[in-house]
Amino acid sequence: MQNRPYYLKSAQVLTEDAVKTNYFVLVENGIITDMSDTPNPEYEIIDLGDSLLIPGLIDLHIHGREGCDVMDATLSSIETISSSLAKHGVTGFLATTVTANWQQTLDAFTVIGRASKQKLPGAQVLGAYNEGLFFTETHKGAHNEKFFLPLTKERVDAIYNASQGSLKVMALAPEFQDSLEIIDYLVSLGVKVMLGHTNATYQQSVDALSAGACGGVHIFNGMSGIHHRDPGCAGAVLLDEQAVAEVIADGVHLHPSIMSLIYRLKGPKKIALISDCINAGGFNDGIYRLGELDVIVKNGIARTQSGSLAGSTLTLDKSVKNFVDMVNVPLLEAIHMASLVPATHLGLDNILGSIALNKRANFAVLSSELTVKATIIDGDFIYRHPDF
Ligand SMILES: [Zn+2]
Repeated sequence: MQNRPYYLKSAQVLTEDAVKTNYFVLVENGIITDMSDTPNPEYEIIDLGDSLLIPGLIDLHIHGREGCDVMDATLSSIETISSSLAKHGVTGFLATTVTANWQQTLDAFTVIGRASKQKLPGAQVLGAYNEGLFFTETHKGAHNEKFFLPLTKERVDAIYNASQGSLKVMALAPEFQDSLEIIDYLVSLGVKVMLGHTNATYQQSVDALSAGACGGVHIFNGMSGIHHRDPGCAGAVLLDEQAVAEVIADGVHLHPSIMSLIYRLKGPKKIALISDCINAGGFNDGIYRLGELDVIVKNGIARTQSGSLAGSTLTLDKSVKNFVDMVNVPLLEAIHMASLVPATHLGLDNILGSIALNKRANFAVLSSELTVKATIIDGDFIYRHPDF
């Protein structure tokens, strides 16, 4: 960490409340300690020119990048994903599993737990996200139903312990026996429960949300949708004011009009942009693996052989741009859907997620076309675009 305090100066700084022009942000020991129009002359200034300075992005739901998958259960795969994410302005992420056999799942959580306790070359692991095993075949998506298991407290404990307490999010289908009791148990461990890959009815989903579940996994995808006589899980998540909706903003998983509908119902504070990126992200079209299944990537869209969408090759910087272009929202709102909302969801908004006093100095530096020029963690440049 750079010890001498310095200012970052940028043409536009997206603070928690406003877009400031020609603004200065003081970084001291990795923390934001001053924000102002007029810098204290005793400190060095790094002038970012006509760039936009935004908070470091946080990807709540990502499986892999550049040929590596969280399910590889190796630290080197997590490091590759970490470095790759940094090229896209991401400073923190939840390493997300996919359905696999039980032992492989535990091995993956063991490695995520280790990775979450050490400094990685790029984006840092903020915890583990279990997207696997406890789902319904009807909405299995790219999950191999051969490995689906009933969710029990013992299995929760095994995953939680393997992750060394780093488990932050558990996705589950809530229509099974004892689900409400297990949701209550997960909440007591401090784990966020998200409803996904589920055929739950509207009422079952409402009951799960009342029991402590707090949102929907990639909303509309992998869940009972809205029918006018059965509003399904999607309807329950949209109508619950506290529930967070994960949104894959690639224009394929959700029609832009549905993205607008989600925005109108949830508002900017309850939409978390996620990538749901798989190991094909950052690579060319071709055939890849997601867990146990072959995935065919064509024009950047990943599908299983049966045609189900299988995650994405998306990045959060692109998601933000897509959301602005497709839904026509202010840039500050879209940025916060990929930073402050995820940080708040994880209970980390006191230190992460926005450019505000006393938060960690995690930033992305963007061009006016919203491409990433640099990424900064705890005041250190961890990525610079070759042209920057
Ligand atoms: Zn999924």
